[in-house]
Amino acid sequence: MLSVGLFRETQEQFDCSWNEISKKCNVVGVDEATAFAWPSCALCNNELLAELPDRRYFCNKCGATVPTVTNMSLAVYVTSLLLPLHCSIKVQLAQETILGLLTASISTVEGYDLTSLLGQEIGPLLCLVVQTRTSEDDNKGFLLEQLPGIQ
Ligand SMILES: [Zn+2]
Repeated sequence: MLSVGLFRETQEQFDCSWNEISKKCNVVGVDEATAFAWPSCALCNNELLAELPDRRYFCNKCGATVPTVTNMSLAVYVTSLLLPLHCSIKVQLAQETILGLLTASISTVEGYDLTSLLGQEIGPLLCLVVQTRTSEDDNKGFLLEQLPGIQ
């Protein structure tokens, strides 16, 4: 387990805790405002699809009605007993992690029940620290982006 940081001055300190945290952390919140899903062509990955009636899609690149895959963007807040006090972590999850979390929680065909993610365990995740901030009352916040393909 490694994490790679863009902010060197905070990274060393963060590495120590994150290495432990990431082995086992729990989802405590979902950033519903930034969560969204979009279809892409299952054959060529093209996202510029024309929607047809009955939830079918036409791919201009393939020139045919094609099966689609659903792509999702989702960020969650995680916590762990090992997390230092006054520290919050938000992780922009990679596609495979999102799908893994949501598989068990599909409530309807129409959508996903994001609240069912709360309490689920994730990790370890390989993440990039994309943003750090310290608020006036000394709370530290970290925004991480999970690197895809590596669990
Ligand atoms: Zn296509």
